[in-house]
Amino acid sequence: MMVISHKGPALLPHNPNAFGRYLLDRAAHHRRDDAWLKAALADNTQTTMIPFHEGRPLVMESGALYLARGLATLVYTEFGRHDAPLLFLGIDGNQDAYFACEISDPASLETYGQFMDLRAAGPRFDPKELPIVGCAKAIFEWHDKNRFCAACGARSESAEAGWKRVCTQCAREHFPRVDPVVIMAPTLGDRMLLGRQKIWPKGMHSALAGFIEPGETIEEAVARETLEEAGLVVTHVRLHSTQPWPFPHSLMIGAICDVEADTVRVDEHELESARWFTREEAKLLVAAKHPEAWAPPAFAIAGQLIKSWAEEG
Ligand SMILES: [Zn+2]
Repeated sequence: MMVISHKGPALLPHNPNAFGRYLLDRAAHHRRDDAWLKAALADNTQTTMIPFHEGRPLVMESGALYLARGLATLVYTEFGRHDAPLLFLGIDGNQDAYFACEISDPASLETYGQFMDLRAAGPRFDPKELPIVGCAKAIFEWHDKNRFCAACGARSESAEAGWKRVCTQCAREHFPRVDPVVIMAPTLGDRMLLGRQKIWPKGMHSALAGFIEPGETIEEAVARETLEEAGLVVTHVRLHSTQPWPFPHSLMIGAICDVEADTVRVDEHELESARWFTREEAKLLVAAKHPEAWAPPAFAIAGQLIKSWAEEG
C-alpha cells in the first residue's frame, strides 16, 4: 500500500486530471547515490518494482497495475533488461522505494498478467499509482528514442537512475524532455466550440490543441492555435489545469478562452469540422447522452475542460 509522502506535492490544491498528482517524494538526491539505490533495490520487504515491456506496464487479471512489492530484486535481476535503465521513481511516506524496469521477455511474467497499452488500461488504475506509472512510461519512451548523442551522434548511456543520459564520446549530458501543449475550448457567451479530426471515430468532438512554439507564451499559443485552426480571435485566456500526458511525454496545459465573434473558418489540414455546443449540450456530452456527438471522458483533460465549463452555468 502506497503511503502518501507529505514531502511531495500532496498538499497542493486539487488537480482533477489523470496523471495529475505525483504523490511520491522524487528524492532526487538519491539518484546519484549508487550505494543507497543498491541497498533499496535489495530490500526485499518494502521496495516496489513496476515491470514494463516496450513501454507497456504489466496489468493483472483484475485490471490493476502489477506492483512487485518485496520482489524488486528478483524481478529486476531475473527478468530485467540490463541494457535499459533501472528507473528510480521516489519514496513514499514510509521511506519505501519505487522503481521501474524493462523486462526482456514478456512471457517470463505472464502468470501475473499481461503488458498493456497505458492509454487503454490507464483509466482502470488506482489514481494514486497512475502518475507514477505515467512518469515511468514517459522516461522509458525518451530513453528509447534518444540512444544517440544529439551533439556528436555517438552512443549515450543512462545515468542517475534513469534521469539523464551521458554521451560516451563527448560526455554531453541529455535530460528527459517534456513537450508543452496548449489544449483549449473557445467560448462565445453561452456556447463552446469543439472540433473534430477526420481520423477520429464518428461523432467524436474535442478541444483544440497544439504545441507551444519557441518564443511564445502559453496565452499566445492558445490565441495562435485557435485562430489557425478555427479562425477565431481570442480576447481572454483562463488557464484551467495542467496534465502530464505520457503519449509520449507531453504536458497538456488546459485553458478555456473567450473569442471576439463567431468567425469560424476551419483549417482543413487540422480539422474536419468544428461546431458550437450550448451549455445544455455540453452537459449532455459530459453525461455521454448527446444524440449526435460525444467527447473525451474525464481521463483526458479535454473532458475536464468541457465538464468544468458545463458546470459553470
Ligand atoms: Zn556526444
